Amino acid sequence: MVVRKTYHCNNQILEWEWSSDNPLMPYPYWTSCYLIDGLLIDSGAPAGENDLKEFVNSLNPSQMIDKCFITHTHEDHAGGAHMLNTEFGIPIYTSDKALNLLKRGNIYPEYRQVAWGLKLLPVNAEIIDKPIITKSKKYNFELFPMSGHAPELNALIEKDQQWAFVADAVQPKYKMIFGKNSDIQEDISLICQSLSKLYDFTEGMDNLLIFSAGNGVLQGREFIKVKMEEIENLRIQAHEYHGELQKEGYSGKKLIRKLIRNLFGKESIIEQLTQGDLSRENLIISLIKWEK
Ligand SMILES: [Zn+2]
Repeated sequence: MVVRKTYHCNNQILEWEWSSDNPLMPYPYWTSCYLIDGLLIDSGAPAGENDLKEFVNSLNPSQMIDKCFITHTHEDHAGGAHMLNTEFGIPIYTSDKALNLLKRGNIYPEYRQVAWGLKLLPVNAEIIDKPIITKSKKYNFELFPMSGHAPELNALIEKDQQWAFVADAVQPKYKMIFGKNSDIQEDISLICQSLSKLYDFTEGMDNLLIFSAGNGVLQGREFIKVKMEEIENLRIQAHEYHGELQKEGYSGKKLIRKLIRNLFGKESIIEQLTQGDLSRENLIISLIKWEK
């Protein structure tokens, strides 16, 4: 297992990243937790439990975690929550939409087990529907719903500091999508709506920092705009090609295959590894369904 620790913003934020070193993975998949004044945002993957335990034990008294917030219920974000709660007595908070999913736990397809560990244990979480004030009362985090990647996803925003902790709601590149057979169903129109909402909400924040999960810190509000334009261009292109190909007599699987070639050159290698769960095809279907 591989662990990275990074301090951000004059040591106010400690990022703990984790990836499996399973040789079956084509490249490392990282996930992040962020620790800010006693608040831990997300909890890593089930297979990272022991590394997270070591991390918690290594903290000095001023860094001690007094609460953990789970942004969404995917196993690479909620995987350490059971352990934090049962072994350290750390209360776990989440949004109302995520609560029952967390309480239930989850079993998921094998390719996700390879990346993140065998299963998500049930988490005894509590709902939080008001801003989260940190241990020394220095920071105030607002919950900010951002559906699209997962229906229950809530980002946390610290307005005064101009920080947005978005988990997987903002991606560096929109080239792949989840869906089909698994419980992870992404929706590109909702992703774009959430980005637009975030863009409006952060108006006036000229130094906005967007903290992603495993994809680093994305700088500036403009980044959100670029992502919205990227998605809009993909949508227009997909609809144009779709119309043209239909006129040429293409339909069904053949049409989708042709669209993948036109838009991306080829299907992602991940498609095979996940038996179609994660694929460009899923992204294309979501783009085509999105009528304006
Ligand atoms: Zn996720």
